[in-house]
Parts: sequence; structure tokens; C-alpha cells
Amino acid sequence: MRDAGLEVRSDAAGNLIGRREGLSERRAIAVGSHIDTVPNGGRYDGALGVLAGIECARALAAGGPPLRHALEVIAFANEEGARGSAWLFGSRAVAGLLEPEEVGRPDEEGLALADRVAVFTGGPNAIDGARRPPSDFRAYLELHVEQGPMLQALGCPIGVVEGITGRVSMQATFRGAANHAGTTPMDLRRDALVAAAHMVLEVRRLVLDERLARVGTVGQLAVEPNALNIIPGVARVALELRDGSDEVLAAVPERIRRSAEAIATRSGTAVEVHHLGTTRAVPTSPAMQAAIERAAATCGLRTYRLPSGAGHDALAMGHLTEMGMIFVPSAGGVSHSPRESTSAAACVDGCDVLLNAIAETDQLPVLAGEN
Ligand SMILES: [Zn+2]
Repeated sequence: MRDAGLEVRSDAAGNLIGRREGLSERRAIAVGSHIDTVPNGGRYDGALGVLAGIECARALAAGGPPLRHALEVIAFANEEGARGSAWLFGSRAVAGLLEPEEVGRPDEEGLALADRVAVFTGGPNAIDGARRPPSDFRAYLELHVEQGPMLQALGCPIGVVEGITGRVSMQATFRGAANHAGTTPMDLRRDALVAAAHMVLEVRRLVLDERLARVGTVGQLAVEPNALNIIPGVARVALELRDGSDEVLAAVPERIRRSAEAIATRSGTAVEVHHLGTTRAVPTSPAMQAAIERAAATCGLRTYRLPSGAGHDALAMGHLTEMGMIFVPSAGGVSHSPRESTSAAACVDGCDVLLNAIAETDQLPVLAGEN
């Protein structure tokens, strides 16, 4: 990172932050994304935004125009949410959006997130130390692969993100009675997995028929004892629903709870429903959208405005500062898969637009306060 002129440090949440000072402003234009990925994920989701940020810092250090503002390149930790619900972990730690409950809750191995982070940051329960005040930033810019099919279908090289949809995540645990699969008559069973199966279909029905949210997914199912010849005694269903409206999302937890309880009653099981968390929908700043569009015009590239259905670190950073996001096309709209691909030329286009968007942002009015 030395040739990028960045002073690099890691913070208490495991984020890596490279910073160079500006000519006059202490506030930073932050650029970045994440370096973790999902199991069996692709090579572009997250990594592209971090590498592009470093490349922009390099280009600026090698004789680009000097910036008035400081520049920070941030590689956020654990954006995807390993171990339970702590998605956008690093960026939410920076924005002060982590709930104490989710940091302290023991995971399946009995360790709380705070303890796990302490292993590599050296201090227990120090995640709060990663928190930054809004006065540290002028804006946040993130380049990311679209992870959807729109830009490729339109033949458009650059997406300008209008906003990031919010998400409600929940878990329903159905408890029935584990018993012998050969000797227990069908009408005397309390099969937790049958209840969970109804829940999977109910989430789909609530979205398609009742328009409870824009999309809804059951992506995780845990069954106990999970044996071929035993009626399942416990089934845990983890689900999430996403929408661009906070008002729509606010109604989700209660509606899911009612459905789960009705299914439990019908199936002779008991159910506990946990609302794991709600991430609010965050619009991108109109000024940043315009800055990205001017940057793309400078590069001679067409743009298209679109919402982001996926969550990104920009969502958390949008609570701290003006936020803008640049999308480049995903081949076939495929992401979270080893088949994820974006052409080298498209990555270079995105990087060029990011560099010019940094320069455009640097020319926006300077913000007052603690300089
Ligand atoms: Zn990502």
C-alpha cells in the first residue's frame, strides 16, 4: 500500500483502513467495500471495490490532482455476516449501528462475536472503539458488482445506485417431539420439520400474494436430530425479507410471528420467533448520484439509475455521511457463486469512474466542523 501513499491501520472491528491526508480538509472521502465472502462465493463481490480503492489511491499518489480532502480506503470486515446475524459487521461497527445483544449473543460454538473479534484485535469487548463520528467523513463511495442482470441486459457499463433496500431477518424455532420413524403413527406425530416446511411456503405466499415485502427468502434450515429414521424434534428456520420502504418492513416481524404461531397450532408444535434485526433502507445522496454521473460522462460511459436489492457496506456508511454507489455489470446476473464474473474491461471502467467520482466529490462544498 506504500505506493498508494496510505497509512494503514486496523480497527477494533477488524476493518483495515488506509488513509492519506488532504491539502486542507481533515474530513475524508472514504472509498471501499469488503474482503470477506460467502461459502462458495465469487471473486468480485467486495474485493473489486477494495482493490479499486487502492488503485485510485495509487493513481492519485502517482501524480493525480491533489485532493483537498483526506482519502480513506477501507476494507470492511465480515460484510456477509458469518456466524449468525451480524451482517455488515465491520461497517455497522464504524457507524455505531451494532446492537449490544448481537455482539454479546453466544453462537453455535458458545462464543460471542465480541470474544471472536477480541482474538485478532487483542482487546475484549472493544468493538465500540471502531465507531467513528460523522465529522470524520465528507462522503463514502463504493464500487461493487451489480449481482443482478439489469446492466448486462441494457448493455450499460455503469449503474448509479439510487438506494439500498432494507432487510428484516428472523428465526422461527419449531419444537415437536422426536420419535421413532417406524413405530409412531402418522396422526400422533408432532413433526417439527413439517411445521418448518409450511413456514417456508408461507414466506413465499406472504410475498407473492400479500406483497408483504419486495422479496422474501428462507435460506437456512437446521433440523434435530437430523437422522433418517427419527421424526424431527426441532427445526430452526432462518428467513429474511427485503424492501425499499421502512414502513413496509416495520410490519414484517408481527406478520411473520402470527403466521408461525398459526402453523405451530395446526401442526401440534410449539414455536419461538426471534426478530434478529432490521436494517433500514438507505437512499443514496442525490449529490453523489450526480457526481458519479459527471464522472461517468468524463470517462465517456453511459449510466443507468437502479436500486440495489443487495445490502452493502454503503448502507451502514450512509448513516454517517453522504453515500454513493457505482455498479458494474455481472455476467449473467450471477453472484454468490464461483461463476460470478465481470470482464476486466468493465472493472477498469468502474475504477475509472470511481477515480473521477473521488475528484468530483472533492469539489463539492466543504463541510463545516472540527477541521
Ligand atoms: Zn458485496
